Amino acid sequence: MTPRRILIAFFVALALAPLALPEFTITLLNYIGLYALVALGLVLLTGVGGLTSFGQAAFVGLGAYTTAVLTTATDLPAWLAWIGTSTWLALLAGLALTLAFAVAIGMLTLRLSGHYLPLGTIGWGISLYFVFGNLQLLGGFTGITGVPPISIFGHEFIGGREIFYLIWVFLLAGVVTTQNLLDSREGRAIRALKGGRAMAESMGVNTAESRLAIFVLAALQACASGWLYAHMQRFLNPTPFSINVGIEYLFMAVVGGAGEVWGALLGATVITISKQWLQDILPQIVGQAGNFEVIVFGIAMVIVLQRARDGLWPVLTKWVPLARRPRTIDPGVPPLARRAKPAAGETVLEVSRATMRFGGLVAVNDMALTVKAGEIVALIGPNGAGKSTTFNLISGVLDATEGDIRFLGAPLRGKSAREIAALGMSRTFQHVKLLPLMSVLDNVAIGAHGRENPGLLRGVVAGAWRLERRDEMRLLAEAARQIERVGLADHMFDGAGSLPLGKQRLLEVARALAADPCLLLLDEPAAGLRYLEKRALAELLRKLKAEGIAILLVEHDMDFVMGLVDRVYVMDFGQKICEGAPEQVQRDPRVLEAYLGGVE
Ligand code: ADP
Ligand code: MG
Repeated sequence: MTPRRILIAFFVALALAPLALPEFTITLLNYIGLYALVALGLVLLTGVGGLTSFGQAAFVGLGAYTTAVLTTATDLPAWLAWIGTSTWLALLAGLALTLAFAVAIGMLTLRLSGHYLPLGTIGWGISLYFVFGNLQLLGGFTGITGVPPISIFGHEFIGGREIFYLIWVFLLAGVVTTQNLLDSREGRAIRALKGGRAMAESMGVNTAESRLAIFVLAALQACASGWLYAHMQRFLNPTPFSINVGIEYLFMAVVGGAGEVWGALLGATVITISKQWLQDILPQIVGQAGNFEVIVFGIAMVIVLQRARDGLWPVLTKWVPLARRPRTIDPGVPPLARRAKPAAGETVLEVSRATMRFGGLVAVNDMALTVKAGEIVALIGPNGAGKSTTFNLISGVLDATEGDIRFLGAPLRGKSAREIAALGMSRTFQHVKLLPLMSVLDNVAIGAHGRENPGLLRGVVAGAWRLERRDEMRLLAEAARQIERVGLADHMFDGAGSLPLGKQRLLEVARALAADPCLLLLDEPAAGLRYLEKRALAELLRKLKAEGIAILLVEHDMDFVMGLVDRVYVMDFGQKICEGAPEQVQRDPRVLEAYLGGVE
């Protein structure tokens, strides 16, 4: 069965549900839809972006209270009262307010890292809950009654069977746009967040913007759920917006499958139905009233995290064989614009007096080197000599303690890794940093993120509504070209994590090339490659050199280096001990001493 057929069957079943099912089941389905809309935001935020939030219930409350107040209060200023005359205007007002709140809260909390971020979300989640409960305007803990139903052209959505369609249209629109977004340029940038900030920024992704974007999108989806809820219930009190419910939303996303959009629906279904069932059955078993389902959920959560890290959705799809169509690549689309390259022989990179201290350790000490366009230069030295640290200084991953680094004549001091990448410097990492669950194609496409970038807002909107297919095709065609170039064409659609380490390194080379660089920094690109693969890599590097690209590489395999490079710098204990042509360096007593030093 194709996914399309399953989807159509699902839509038909949904459309017929209100005609066939009893009121109780419809109510349950309505709740599932409302919860899934919130969980969907968490899939994007937590599952894909890796940012945990316990506070989504507060955004649901923001949407619900905004519309409830606007549509029921009698003593509002004229313009607010006018908004309150339409439930749809009230939705827009709720979304605008949520947008403002989410941007403000996001700017404050998203700077936090590690465990501090989830703790921060608990903080503002609890604060907003108490605002709802304590503001006189919002009816305090007794709440607001008399909320009108939603209406379209005079038709009022009264009762569960009517609002059912509205809820599920919202949810399915959310699922489809989120899925689209994840398949777009901005979506790749969002997914790159999990590969670590250093990698994403070095590929030209503005990680702060991407984090804020998914935080805002998740908040807006929660707000829409709150709006639907308020007009379904027709009264409000603060209970459904407490931190407990916020935890339940997170449960749904994690149990369902935090990385998959349909996981949100699965999680909401499983949690809502089992909660209903447990609330009926557990008090009978225990013999007294109480919220015993919380205990069961806690245990279930631990089991899921132990046994099915990625949630139930991947388990389910394993049973149902889906015939996925691989992406098509159209080599005929116009290629991406290329940047102007310096002429061969022009100095591209100039490092002088670079020093990096980690506390008391001087990892790089007064280092100097230059690389010209059309030149391959090797940086060698024993383990711990400071080669990778030098790369990090050049590419802006680390800020040099001292020194002057110039790229294409301009000083790099104070520039971020992303700004440096945008200038035309591209790199690979000694410890490969890629997204193992994403395809080779998608991984390499991240490298081209900075090229012809339409900007965040346009990128998100166009991605969600598939208005950028042509640009996306051009970007994928470029990625495919680089994949072929490094010899990975057979693995184009494989998961990057399934490749052996040597091929993962080649993937990183392709990803770096997708940025159309003037300078390529390769940190041990040949490590783990087999003999023939090494020869192919050397061949590729020669070709790049002939195109005028400057290449600086760290490599341990002397045979690989000697036949290939123009000049060699040798480092030991953070310092340059020697430089020159390969044959010359090979015979230098200082180099022999450094390599053979401690070994008798
Ligand atoms: P190489 O790549 O030449 O093997 P590195 O540049 O990785 O060497 O490391 C040089 C020295 O700096 C090593 O002693 C290493 O332990 C230290 N070092 C590297 N990165 C850090 C860091 N982030 N914090 C502290 N020490 C570091
Ligand atoms: Mg290293």
